[in-house]
Amino acid sequence: MSDKYDVIIIGAGPGGYVAAIKAAQLGLKTACVESWTSEEDGKQVLGGTCLNVGCIPSKALLEISHKYEEANLHFAEQGLEINDLKVNVGKMMERKLSVVKQLTGGIAGLFKANGVKSLHGHGRLLANRQVEVTDQNDKKTVYEADNVIIATGSDPIEIPPAPLKKGMIVDSEGALEFDEVPKRVGVIGAGIIGLELGSVWNRLGSEVTMLEALDTFLPAVDQQIAKETLKHFKKQGLNIELKSRVTGTSIEGDEITVKYEDAKGQQELKVDKLIVAVGRRPHTKNLLAEDSGVKLDERGFIFVDDICKTEAPGVWAVGDVVRGPMLAHKASEEGIMVAERIAGHKPQVNYDCIPNVIYTHPEVAWVGKTEEELKSEGEAYNVGTFPFAANGRALAANSAAGMVKIIADAKTDRILGFHVVGPQGSELVAQGVIAMEFGSSSEDLALTCFAHPTLSESVHEAALGVHDGAVHIANKKKKK
Ligand code: FAD
Ligand code: AMP
Repeated sequence: MSDKYDVIIIGAGPGGYVAAIKAAQLGLKTACVESWTSEEDGKQVLGGTCLNVGCIPSKALLEISHKYEEANLHFAEQGLEINDLKVNVGKMMERKLSVVKQLTGGIAGLFKANGVKSLHGHGRLLANRQVEVTDQNDKKTVYEADNVIIATGSDPIEIPPAPLKKGMIVDSEGALEFDEVPKRVGVIGAGIIGLELGSVWNRLGSEVTMLEALDTFLPAVDQQIAKETLKHFKKQGLNIELKSRVTGTSIEGDEITVKYEDAKGQQELKVDKLIVAVGRRPHTKNLLAEDSGVKLDERGFIFVDDICKTEAPGVWAVGDVVRGPMLAHKASEEGIMVAERIAGHKPQVNYDCIPNVIYTHPEVAWVGKTEEELKSEGEAYNVGTFPFAANGRALAANSAAGMVKIIADAKTDRILGFHVVGPQGSELVAQGVIAMEFGSSSEDLALTCFAHPTLSESVHEAALGVHDGAVHIANKKKKK
């Protein structure tokens, strides 16, 4: 036995590293175990999926590819002429990597500054809150803690019809690493990750076909917003085939043949690269000794209660490895809640106020309930919508696709859902999150003064519209 800690965290993604920093800030003796090793120099890599192969590199490529698409397709109509615009994928990837390195290096700095001990190796939970850490030389050390937080994240799901083949049939990580713009890209799964990755390569010039087994586009999204979104994606040339289930793949030379079934029967698609984006599963491989006391649920997630406690006393779990949306900010909120609970405070995560974002263009973002959910729950509600086409700032920015939609309780006027498809949707949704956290009514937002000209005025107008009071569009009389 080498050392005893107040808290040991397994995993240094946004769930684990945030929990570690918060625990140390609260005066707890904290260690964080992370197994990720750089192929370049054998050193430990902090930040998890999000910083290394998820949120951050994907957003770097989405930003760059959006700029290219703007310059390529939309500068001329605004009086900006560019000759000889070129894509340099190598340089683009260098830029992506430098952003990732800056942020992951930042976590190492924060660990040092806050006194978090970083342990490099594979962590395994034994009985009685002991954590065995196996380093790169296979040396095992057992540490003891009063509390253990499991934050081991998730892995991409692989499906038998599309086994991965390096550089050809890839998961989300491989799709962030192509070394040139492929001519034809197939994407299996039109969920959030598939849409973001498909958008990157579509903007850069690839012909992108997305095959989605379901017959509804973005079923978790308010369907008025989803329909509007699909319309814009189609305009951008993203070919999204619904009701198309991939049943097999084969590779001949540099070409991949994808077999899929749609309403008309067996179909084939030929592509140069295939991205498998069919979801993620919790990562619990070699994590739990038989007598650890931690249980998994029927879907393989670590079973926790609403404050992230597992079945084993003093053992907690947060982030993608437990139930709930697989989002970095949800993981971090849970990490902070658990660290504070260990320190004796009583915070709670408000799972009703977690924003979701698809970082395409237009961006899709929402918090709270959709109309479909409210209908199925039998709730009475009012809706206000406002299109960016009537917003001066959006028009000036040449980015007027989409709308804001606010749904409020018919009796109390409390905001129940806040949905955006449009420019800066990821930023605008924060207004809905704050409003809902404070239990605002639509009238509260309607009575608030918003700067002119801003995209946020669409939030104001949608709030006014809940009671047919929008100023810059004609209000439709609602059925009572
Ligand atoms: P992870 O980030 O997966 O971190 C877990 C860490 O634990 C890893 O570093 C792993 O190496 C380590 N680990 C696992 N097992 C062990 C062990 N036994 N011992 C030691 N270490 C271990 N979410 C958003 O909110 N916004 C986005 O824009 C977004 N974009 C995404 C884009 C892509 C392409 C992908 C793939 C995901 C994206 N996500 C996004 C999801 C987000 O990355 C995850 O929700 C988030 O990373 C979950 O955090 P986590 O801490 O639970 O796990
Ligand atoms: P998400 O869970 O948001 O990452 O989205 C993954 C998507 O992949 C879901 O919408 C699934 O319906 C879809 N999917 C899963 N398997 C297949 C398959 N074999 N063919 C086409 N789509 C699939």
